[in-house]
Amino acid sequence: MNTGDWLEISVHVDGEAAEAVSEVLNRYGRGGAVVEHLLSTGLGAHDDADQWAVKAYIPTGDLVTRRQIEEALWHLGQLYPIPEPVFSVLTENDWAQAWKAHYSVLRIGRRTVIVPQWQSYAPQDGEVVIVLDPGMAFGTGTHPTTQLCLVALEERISPGMSVFDVGTGSGVLAIAAAKQGARAVRAVDVDEIAVATARDNVAVNGVADVVHVAAGSWEKASGQYDLIVINILAEVICSLLEQGLADALKPGGTLIASGIIDDREAGVRAALTESGIEVVGRHVERDWVALVGLKHERKAAG
Ligand code: SAH
Repeated sequence: MNTGDWLEISVHVDGEAAEAVSEVLNRYGRGGAVVEHLLSTGLGAHDDADQWAVKAYIPTGDLVTRRQIEEALWHLGQLYPIPEPVFSVLTENDWAQAWKAHYSVLRIGRRTVIVPQWQSYAPQDGEVVIVLDPGMAFGTGTHPTTQLCLVALEERISPGMSVFDVGTGSGVLAIAAAKQGARAVRAVDVDEIAVATARDNVAVNGVADVVHVAAGSWEKASGQYDLIVINILAEVICSLLEQGLADALKPGGTLIASGIIDDREAGVRAALTESGIEVVGRHVERDWVALVGLKHERKAAG
């Protein structure tokens, strides 16, 4: 990943289009989109519609994502009147600050609460509190794909399990697993910034004796796990399954796969079946899908 400057993409829209634009920016921006309420002027002849600034951040060098955002906004522009996006370059520090201003306590599922490191929070009984400084890594908890994993984790984790978190980002899922009683969590990421951020977050949450973060991918598995969680894109999930990711799962173990845009679901299901994993659960938010699978007790023939 480019560790240099960040590009802020900002689109000013009214309430109706804000939702659609934030869905687009959520999909492409690092750590999702942020929505800022701008004051309405109250001057128009019509009832003044509320104005919103929807923003997302990507590395300046990521021209592919920039192009994808421009195209997606162009398509939306056929449905809603959307002004041209405004691009501005931020330094890494500006980016972190811009992000902090929009990031607050987040409740997910039945008991998971994500608290930004710079905020104080008094936990209620039974809550799983994760303190995060997402820094430069993906995984602030605001993205639907992360939330689907957190919900699936709440359902599937039980104390004493060993867990493998592939593509840990900020470490959010690894920390959630540890705080819900996992005995040992291996967390890996190919992005060095993610590895550093995840290590910091693991330490801040006091779970460094349970969670071990390493640079790399699924080849860093040590033995077989009770549960694997992987929140990357469908293509990456399929490719890792083809490479043998399921070998890192104990027979009868659980795999939670997220980051799947709905039209890629069939492909991931096929790859799971091929790996001897039966889909037993499905969680959906907007056009994102997470699948929960169980590995057969014995490897399927062939
Ligand atoms: N687990 C976090 C972050 C998900 S973002 C959450 O749920 O919010 C996906 C992460 O996977 C990114 O940090 C990215 O660097 C990492 N990644 C992408 N391809 C990977 C691969 N082949 N192996 C391991 N990590 C990968």
